[in-house]
Amino acid sequence: MPRTVEVPEYEIHDKVRVDPGRTALIVVDMQNDFVKEGGTLVVPDAEGTIPAIQSLLALARGSGMKVIFTQDTHGEDDPEWAIWPEHVREDSWGWRIVDELEPQDGELVIRKVRYDAFYGTHLDHFLRLWGVETVIVCGTVASICVHYTAASAALRWYDVVVPKDATSALTPFDLESSLRQIDFLFNGRVTESGNIVAERTDPNVYKSKVEEAAEEVSRDR
Ligand code: ZN
Repeated sequence: MPRTVEVPEYEIHDKVRVDPGRTALIVVDMQNDFVKEGGTLVVPDAEGTIPAIQSLLALARGSGMKVIFTQDTHGEDDPEWAIWPEHVREDSWGWRIVDELEPQDGELVIRKVRYDAFYGTHLDHFLRLWGVETVIVCGTVASICVHYTAASAALRWYDVVVPKDATSALTPFDLESSLRQIDFLFNGRVTESGNIVAERTDPNVYKSKVEEAAEEVSRDR
């Protein structure tokens, strides 16, 4: 008999401002095997998140945010295939990122072998090189690769934002428990994709305003 549990309250932010100069959008594992009919490990709601992820990509590309894709990648005798059915065999159709979300030239694609996109990859190196402080993590699976990547980012003190409508899980329980952890444990912000606003905070502009004000004050004296 399944037990019924209550989902504790967690905040869904109705406005999240990010500085595109210090923010990266990370699209996790939106590959045919997980998203498309005929895939070997389809997440039922994943295809439905494509429009929300497209709008996040448009926001990121339009505002100059860094865009990163992760691509789960396995080969013969991969130990993960003992846990899950065979999936994302390198160079197969199922391994490829879905056509609708095709990475553009210059966008980083991180091939990863485990749930956490930081583990054994160059992801942290590039985020630090680019001065990224905030990561928007979306894609699939909410409670697995999105979750462990968001967790790993939070452990490294990146500011984590997860748009709920741009991520998908195998069950509603998995989605809710993951989002609750983002909020409660990682101090991240759960929101909707349409609530994210990219606003550049240029420290020089701020400084010149302060200087202007200081000049005005001294002039008035
Ligand atoms: Zn895998």
